[in-house]
Amino acid sequence: MAGIQETPISSAAGGAVRIDLGALGANWRLLVETAAPATCAAVVKADAYGIGMAPVASTLAAAGCTTFIVASLNEAVALRGVLGAAATILVLNGLLPGTAKDTQAHGIVPVINDLAQLQEWQNLAQGADSVLPTVLHADTGMNRLGLTPEDVGVVSNEPERMTGLDLKLVMSHLACADDPDNPKNNAQLLEFLRQKAALMPASASMAASSGIFLGPGFHFEIVRPGLALYGGNPTPNAPNPMAEVVQIKGKIVQVRDVDSPQTVGYGAAFPVTKPSILATVAVGYADGILRALGDKKDGKVWGSIGGVSVPVVGRISMDLLTVDVTEVATDAAHPGAWVDLIGGDAMSLEDAAAAAATIPYEILTSMGARYHRQYVGGAD
Ligand SMILES: *Cc1c(COP(=O)(O)O)cnc(C)c1O
Repeated sequence: MAGIQETPISSAAGGAVRIDLGALGANWRLLVETAAPATCAAVVKADAYGIGMAPVASTLAAAGCTTFIVASLNEAVALRGVLGAAATILVLNGLLPGTAKDTQAHGIVPVINDLAQLQEWQNLAQGADSVLPTVLHADTGMNRLGLTPEDVGVVSNEPERMTGLDLKLVMSHLACADDPDNPKNNAQLLEFLRQKAALMPASASMAASSGIFLGPGFHFEIVRPGLALYGGNPTPNAPNPMAEVVQIKGKIVQVRDVDSPQTVGYGAAFPVTKPSILATVAVGYADGILRALGDKKDGKVWGSIGGVSVPVVGRISMDLLTVDVTEVATDAAHPGAWVDLIGGDAMSLEDAAAAAATIPYEILTSMGARYHRQYVGGAD
């Protein structure tokens, strides 16, 4: 891929997301090393977790990734346009009724989740007189997607259901991989081994980001990281081994002096108690700075201006939030100046998720469309 140049931050944008493609590449290499001899497929669903599917997939392809995973067929078709014909693209949501022909036409591999999907895919193979690549998802306890143990039994007892289909991979998904002590991990592993043994021989896959760090017993032939590629911590009870990929910043639109008994923002939720300087920043919950991050009295939610932390005060509005810049030099906190909000010198993605009582996945995928996205550190 041609290098993605560092673009100047558009003066029209109230917020910016800085995406470090070099860190993405480093995370890819760390996961490849950790999973070896298993290989890595990259999960790039939901616009690569809000980071940008095209630059992310291009960067990972340049780093050696050949299998990419998305949730839906429309994502897969868009990704095919980015990557060209050679890449293997899997669709986790499988075959929605009536989509088999389009799936095949774009060379997409559906992750088959039930016997009806299997039948539809086989009908197409027979009609087209060609062997179609197929992935089976075996449900081992998540009860969300995948063949039930009974369905696996049916496929095992009636192998003609796979005639005309080339079983490339059997996969399953862990419910509690971010909690290494949870007994559900081993229970799912044993169930997966049992189901895999009942099916015809094929490569297998069970681990997403956290599953990779449960150890080689969970790796099989292919692992499927998403969040860890993007800098999220796959080991939430231990320090984050991944490099930071995403930094979110907002631009100051106004600075004002306030004092008691004034209040800040909607609901008059923040009473000012002493002479302070506040800066209003041009990002809000419409940009994925979740409203749950507002109105924290304990200073747990904070941005940074040049390394000086600035607590978020009052509620988060749709397009704005307010930070206390009393401790910042006046020439640093002015309209047009940038405030780090998540990542960089500000709170980490994990801190922000914890403060909002959510997970890093939701912070990333909520980033919204208004940010100027600045890609740095692309491959040569
Ligand atoms: C989203 C998803 C992944 C990637 O999960 P991360 O925790 O982001 O690594 C892997 N496999 C399946 C089935 C998924 O739905």
